[in-house]
Amino acid sequence: MPQNLLGYTLAKLTEEFLGRGQSKYRAKQVFGWIYGKKIYDFDAMTDISKDFREVLKRDYCIKLPTIYTKQEAKDGTIKVLLEMEDGAKVESVLMPYNYGDAICVSSQVGCNMGCAFCASGLLRKERNLTAAEMMGEVLVMNGLLAEFGRHVTHIDVMGTGEPFDNYDNVLDFIKIANDPFALAIGARHITVSTCGLCPGIKAYGKEGIQINLALSLHAPNDEIRQQIMPIAKAYPFEKLIPALQEYSADSGRRLTFEYIMLKDLNDTLDCAKELVALIRDNHLFAYVNLIPYNEVKEKPYRRSDKTRVRAFADYLLKNGINCTVRKEFGGDIDAACGQLRSKQVGGKL
Ligand code: SAH
Repeated sequence: MPQNLLGYTLAKLTEEFLGRGQSKYRAKQVFGWIYGKKIYDFDAMTDISKDFREVLKRDYCIKLPTIYTKQEAKDGTIKVLLEMEDGAKVESVLMPYNYGDAICVSSQVGCNMGCAFCASGLLRKERNLTAAEMMGEVLVMNGLLAEFGRHVTHIDVMGTGEPFDNYDNVLDFIKIANDPFALAIGARHITVSTCGLCPGIKAYGKEGIQINLALSLHAPNDEIRQQIMPIAKAYPFEKLIPALQEYSADSGRRLTFEYIMLKDLNDTLDCAKELVALIRDNHLFAYVNLIPYNEVKEKPYRRSDKTRVRAFADYLLKNGINCTVRKEFGGDIDAACGQLRSKQVGGKL
């Protein structure tokens, strides 16, 4: 089967082309066509010899996913359901911030983490996405933004799936996105979000790239966390905290704690107090991003009142913990994580 070039890091493609007797610049040239000129047709790559173009056409391809459905919200949010070559469908969302255009990329088809509040987990994992497919998500979005003279400037691997359950492909994808000869998206504009797979957290800190790590914390203690996140049983705080400390020591980077505010479950001042203590007592280098819950009709959880969210945020701030409340996008479309896909593909409960 022809290999999709969108999944190759520059290093891997250079090595591959060298093995075919090509010069070491050939891969950079091809990257220039794909990512610089947005040419996905080998015949148009005129500075590459005809003979090698024939090889490219025979053994490789440049394939983007196709758009299955597209929704646009009044605030400019674009949500697409993409179809991969084998028919698998994944969601990606474009969020127009005032500082740039951020894409929320899916990393797997479905998800096995089983978080109780999340719509993505309504459909179990079918398979990992390849690096080429994740890159395809970005290129499709760039195609939609081109007419406005815009392109994706920030990448959040926060869509469906658990990135550290697909570690190698996600890392290759990030390397390509970050490469100055490819998308050239600054490492600090790239964030990976994990539900807390400790081996992945520890390994990620040792990769030596300045990308951000967000941890889905959602609770200040094991009792509540285990109620809503099965992964917290495999990796309770006793294991998670040392992994986070190791990550910070290795990477020198500040962590983001994502904390969905769930009414009467984790949004009380007692929880805020516990959260402050957790961060302080363990010397965690982190800031907290409070997330308004996107209600999922199949789930019993409700979003916290705005006053609760404010009080929670104020308590953290007063106690010296940096904290923001996440801006919401796409209120008038199927905005909740995984909602569009489960509606289209048919979720089982
Ligand atoms: N598996 C990874 C990344 C995907 S989920 C992780 O768990 O971090 C990305 C973020 O969206 C996580 O913080 C997740 O908990 C959150 N999320 C899931 N469903 C949500 C919903 N309905 N409303 C708000 N945030 C949600």
